[in-house]
Amino acid sequence: MQIMMGEPMPRQPGESGNNPETYPSYLSLGLSELQSRAVRAMEGLSRCAGCAVACLADRLSGTTGDCRSGRYARVSGFFPHFGEEPPISGWRGSGTIFFSGCNLRCIYCQNHETSQTDEGEEITERQLADVMLRIQDLGCHNINLVTPSHVVPQFLAALALAVPDGLRLPIVYNTGGYDSLATLRLLDGVVDIYMPDAKYDDDQVGLRLSGIPHYAKVNRLVLKEMHRQVGVLQTDANGVAVRGLLIRHLVLPGHLSGIAGIARFIASQLSGDAYANVMSQYRPCYNACQYESLDRRLTWEEYAEAVAAARSAGLWQGLPSVSPLDAPGFWRL
Ligand code: SF4
Repeated sequence: MQIMMGEPMPRQPGESGNNPETYPSYLSLGLSELQSRAVRAMEGLSRCAGCAVACLADRLSGTTGDCRSGRYARVSGFFPHFGEEPPISGWRGSGTIFFSGCNLRCIYCQNHETSQTDEGEEITERQLADVMLRIQDLGCHNINLVTPSHVVPQFLAALALAVPDGLRLPIVYNTGGYDSLATLRLLDGVVDIYMPDAKYDDDQVGLRLSGIPHYAKVNRLVLKEMHRQVGVLQTDANGVAVRGLLIRHLVLPGHLSGIAGIARFIASQLSGDAYANVMSQYRPCYNACQYESLDRRLTWEEYAEAVAAARSAGLWQGLPSVSPLDAPGFWRL
């Protein structure tokens, strides 16, 4: 397992401005409820419908599901991440844990070595609890679960071990957005910050590019449930996220991903104040070149149009404050 060390600088209880007795939310939930949810979730692995794929693999017997995961979570690395959105990384980093495997099959995946291979190590719930405690010792602002949709049972079991040992960091659930609503309900009162993708506005595009049916339909239900649980993003006096929803959309070349429809949904069905990061960093990776319009980077014009579409839908939080085409340093050729 890869571990990158940072300067130990433990976070102080109550530093977020919230009551250290009741925040993060899992402290209010109580240990026995946490343990009971972990047991229920682990039992579900025998016929797994833990994510929206619902492939019903018997993971307790060692079979792996469509996500390439069996009984134990597999972790490829953990470290303080300074490249997430400013409210997530803050100044001491977000404590990212990279889980191997994924319930999506994105042909352009930038992390395909982790998501589509067996890279990483299987770890027990005790080891995962120790990883979370180590991240806390490193001084990170939060525990950032990267691609966790297929390992929620293992995470809940690990959290129930880490809390009595002193874990006090909020949980960031950083997902591709193809989650099961039943699983999300197990996370109600556990996760303070949801950070889902909203990848596609069109189910057919999701099928072609990520190999799963009904992505747009499922994703909208997922966003609604997350918003119901935590609301719009709230930050502390230092601008660090304490609770809420932060939605990511990676703009694909040729507007394949459909930002306009997604932004209209977010603004009208969730909130015009929802935080939406419209991301420009697409580059052809993995099998992207098999698909004609994905074999190039985004143009600046495409990115500017995507931001304008989000803005005209009524969104503002997380968007660049000026048009990318007007930004200092942008040169037209
Ligand atoms: S989490 Fe994995 S095993 Fe469970 S339903 Fe999803 S893809 Fe299948």
